Amino acid sequence: MSGVAGWHPGERIIQKKLGLTDQVTLSYTMIHGDLPPEHAEFYETCLPFIPITTLDESGRPWGSILTGKNGEKRFARTPHYNRLEVKARTWDGDPLGDNLRLFDKVENLMMAGIGVEFETRRRNKFAGVVSKLNQSGYDIDMELLVNQAIGNCPKYINVRELEPRTQRKPTVIHDRRSLLLEDRLPEAMVDFILSCDTVFIGSSYVAAPEDREKYPSHVGMNHRGGLPGFVRVRKDRRTVVLPDFSGNRLMTTLGNIETTPLASLTFVDFDSGDILYITGSAENVTGSAAHDIMPFQGTLTLIHTTGFVFVHDALPVRTKGDTPPGRSPYSPPIRLLAEESSISLFDGDERPEATLSQIKLHDPHIATFTWTASKDLQILPGQAIILDCSPFLGTRKYQHMSPLAPTSVNDDFIRTWTVSSSSSEPTRTFSITLRYKPGGALTSILFNIAQKIAEVRPELLDDATPLNMTMKIAGITGEFILPESLSLPSVPVNRELVWFGGGIGLTPFLSMLEYLQTKRKDEDLKIHFILSTREPSILLPIIFNLYTGNERSNTESKIRITLDVFHSESDPVNVNDLTVPTGITLHQHPKRLEADYIQNMKEDLAKDKKLYVCGPAGYTELVLGELVKAGVRPDEIHKEGFFY
Ligand SMILES: Cc1cc2nc3c(=O)[nH]c(=O)nc-3n(C[C@H](O)[C@H](O)[C@H](O)COP(=O)(O)OP(=O)(O)OC[C@H]3O[C@@H](n4cnc5c(N)ncnc54)[C@H](O)[C@@H]3O)c2cc1C
Repeated sequence: MSGVAGWHPGERIIQKKLGLTDQVTLSYTMIHGDLPPEHAEFYETCLPFIPITTLDESGRPWGSILTGKNGEKRFARTPHYNRLEVKARTWDGDPLGDNLRLFDKVENLMMAGIGVEFETRRRNKFAGVVSKLNQSGYDIDMELLVNQAIGNCPKYINVRELEPRTQRKPTVIHDRRSLLLEDRLPEAMVDFILSCDTVFIGSSYVAAPEDREKYPSHVGMNHRGGLPGFVRVRKDRRTVVLPDFSGNRLMTTLGNIETTPLASLTFVDFDSGDILYITGSAENVTGSAAHDIMPFQGTLTLIHTTGFVFVHDALPVRTKGDTPPGRSPYSPPIRLLAEESSISLFDGDERPEATLSQIKLHDPHIATFTWTASKDLQILPGQAIILDCSPFLGTRKYQHMSPLAPTSVNDDFIRTWTVSSSSSEPTRTFSITLRYKPGGALTSILFNIAQKIAEVRPELLDDATPLNMTMKIAGITGEFILPESLSLPSVPVNRELVWFGGGIGLTPFLSMLEYLQTKRKDEDLKIHFILSTREPSILLPIIFNLYTGNERSNTESKIRITLDVFHSESDPVNVNDLTVPTGITLHQHPKRLEADYIQNMKEDLAKDKKLYVCGPAGYTELVLGELVKAGVRPDEIHKEGFFY
């Protein structure tokens, strides 16, 4: 039998706001009224800890960690189909101890929990009330009467192998359960939140008198996961922003918040065992209001912190050895807050169109696609364009799980690509230079079209407008731009630029180079371009052509480029086959870029140079690490990554 009589008013409100009413009308029947045998066995045998929600004296939810005495499994028992017995031990700072002391004072001490087996991504949750309690110091002996239970999907759970940590010393670092108006979360707490990939969200539903009988009050607990940093903190250092990823669409947590605008967030670090407990007022934000806060995120919850506790070395389990977490393939890229990024967005209805006008296939895997915008765009050299490709691809249908293409579940067909062309004035024409990503939703289609056209109607490569391939321009973004002194024509310069480009990470340098060659070619500017590529014979001609330009004569330019190319021997460059323009000095290194090379630049780097690094994750990490070792301050380096 279902544990609930239907969706409560808050759940119905959020389901309606999100247009889900028809899809989930009867889904409440999935909520059991007791513990199914497989859930009972799960709680008994699989879990070293269970995150649970309880309310404090003021009715604020807090998420605690319920665990046995030594972090081992089997601290819970299910002697009966709706009873969960636990022998647990808590610690200083965990709000559970205090909240349980309300047992004799309240009619029903509500509790909800989520069991997550991190090794297997299995997840079930329950809600009920505490029916028996014996509390002595940190020891808790209690029985829960479970009246709601449901299984959840494994999405967004980062896999971890955990082992008990018996030797630990939980130490309260902050205990600020009631914040004053002017209080802020300490910077270290903000950094902690940004480093976490897992958070447990607690909520409560306090029924209005007229609803109490049909929809009794209860609390809720759930898991949210993503890439580290998926939860953001607003500049006020009080408001935590939790994006809502595509889930089972029941919206029980957000539904509770609609009725009772409170929530708890419990962040855990599986390596240090540190736990941050937050409680606060909560508000769901949807549609354009959500996008205004977190661009491209249609639903989110704001938790305005009213109290927090931070306990060091508390979690009773830790990551086994040095095994890195297995990231959930469903987790979408991190979305920054509008206030965190230099993103300039067009309002939904006012997004200009971009129509494909030209294609240049440099080889089957690298091509430049040129577009004509329906209105003028101001794009600084090095910036990227955000394209909404859904007008061209169609809106994706909801899928709960998609084992063969997990990233597709949250894919909104929004893509960011550096503009590889340049213009100092507002322009309607822009190019993007792409590398084909095998299996990539957008690049697969674009390259497929380009190849087909090249085969059957090559004239369309030069004028692709008859194809009528149109996308929407969602915005322009990026701080990976030239120093102001170079963007402002009146400021004289005599500076050196050092560019590290890895693979397709050369694209921002293409637009910078084009800009400099057009606007600053009369100045003695030196560029040291260190390029790592597997395809030097494709990329070098692109650079040379840009330097030479169509109508420019290379001798006119005073810009001098030293081009160090690191490439694999599988694509050797025969300089005799290429005309290296005067003004460019080419050095070839038939090997990977190594630490030594950067360390040997040490003296050179100490001079007043502007450093830029762009490329894939591993490359960027290597270069940044070595530059810092060579004495460069991280804030002196402009960096851009093409990864998520
Ligand atoms: C600042 C920046 C500049 C970039 N510049 C270039 C460039 O000049 N040339 C180039 O080839 N690539 C560039 N990329 C990478 C590019 O955005 C795409 O990831 C890449 O082209 C693969 O796209 P795809 O659709 O074929 O791959 P897919 O595998 O379909 O996309 C990868 C997955 O990542 C997510 N995703 C990918 N891109 C985005 C996005 N932009 N916004 C939100 N979610 C996304 C989606 O969840 C998607 O499922 C850049 C990325 C960034 C962040």
